[in-house]
Amino acid sequence: MELEPFVFQHEGVLVGARSRDDGDAATDAVNRFALRPLSPDEFVVFTLDLCHNGVDRHFSRFPEDELETISALVPGRPLMERHDLRGSLPRGTFFRSELHRQGEHVSVRPDVYVLRTRDNEDFILNIEGGVYRETSIGFSFRTPECSVCGRDLRTCDHVPGRSYGDAVCHYVMRGVLEVIEGSVVPSGSQGTRFVAQDRALPVDRALDRARQEFRKPIALWSDRLWAEE
Ligand SMILES: [Zn+2]
Repeated sequence: MELEPFVFQHEGVLVGARSRDDGDAATDAVNRFALRPLSPDEFVVFTLDLCHNGVDRHFSRFPEDELETISALVPGRPLMERHDLRGSLPRGTFFRSELHRQGEHVSVRPDVYVLRTRDNEDFILNIEGGVYRETSIGFSFRTPECSVCGRDLRTCDHVPGRSYGDAVCHYVMRGVLEVIEGSVVPSGSQGTRFVAQDRALPVDRALDRARQEFRKPIALWSDRLWAEE
């Protein structure tokens, strides 16, 4: 049986402003997305660390080949400023991405450009000043694979975060389908959540729901379920 894909939001971190010192190359890359050629003083470039191959605090993990898929899907996607779960404004565009390696640690590091418009002034200042330093990525994937038994977690009984013998159960996110957006969020916001149509459940409850209803998993993000909240 084919289950519905998960739509998911995952936190990351802002790692720098124009961290790659390659002026002309950056401008050329940005101009592949602009309708008229931009000069370097018309935009600012930020580098984000969107997601990585470690087990995160929500007990999920990307295998490296899925990170490659995400990195390939990111250029052209919007960067949003997310005030809360309902409201967000597009502030920039991802224009290139690469995998960043540090020993065993592999992460997706895209660059985004933000136009120096009057509307974006505060946004840029908040990033440069370190107030906005957390990011999140919205994406969908096909299968949350159980690290203990290898089955779809919605169809087995293992619980992420619980120990089985020497191993702590986590889920391996397989089959990335789409990168929806990247967001910059104020520090200390909610972290990883399942989202759909701007609505989110904490991971553990979303998994419970999906298990209960996995024959019709689209109900995970239906209005009916949300009406019960
Ligand atoms: Zn399992």
